Amino acid sequence: MSDCIFCKIASGEISCNKVYEDKDIFAFDDINPKGPVHVLFIPKKHYATLNDIPSQDLPIISKIFGVAQKIAKEKGVDQTGYRTLINTNRNSGQVVFHVHWHLIGGKPLGPMA
Ligand code: 5GP
Ligand code: ZN
Repeated sequence: MSDCIFCKIASGEISCNKVYEDKDIFAFDDINPKGPVHVLFIPKKHYATLNDIPSQDLPIISKIFGVAQKIAKEKGVDQTGYRTLINTNRNSGQVVFHVHWHLIGGKPLGPMA
């Protein structure tokens, strides 16, 4: 999508600290990290929210979690613990409307708000 900041990050038009890339998935450090480790995972294909991933494309979700497992290990938070979450629409506080998974760790995160 031409006007989407995360599409532009995945295409290299906007710079980022890239953590992982394959043909379907892109991962990069969050610009405003909520912990020592804060990585965002996106499908390269644009879906605005989790609601917008059609059933035939749902395997991308398990693929993203497989990559998240690998990155959590690489970042050294797989045993200490981390949080993965997806914000969807207004009440969650979703700000960027290209579906993305947060992986946050490296310190105790406390209870969910
Ligand atoms: P949301 O609230 O939509 O789930 O989270 C959006 C996340 O994207 C926020 O944590 C925010 O810091 C991050 N973010 C927004 N713009 C940029 C950007 O241009 N580059 C990077 N690396 N992260 C961004
Ligand atoms: Zn996009």
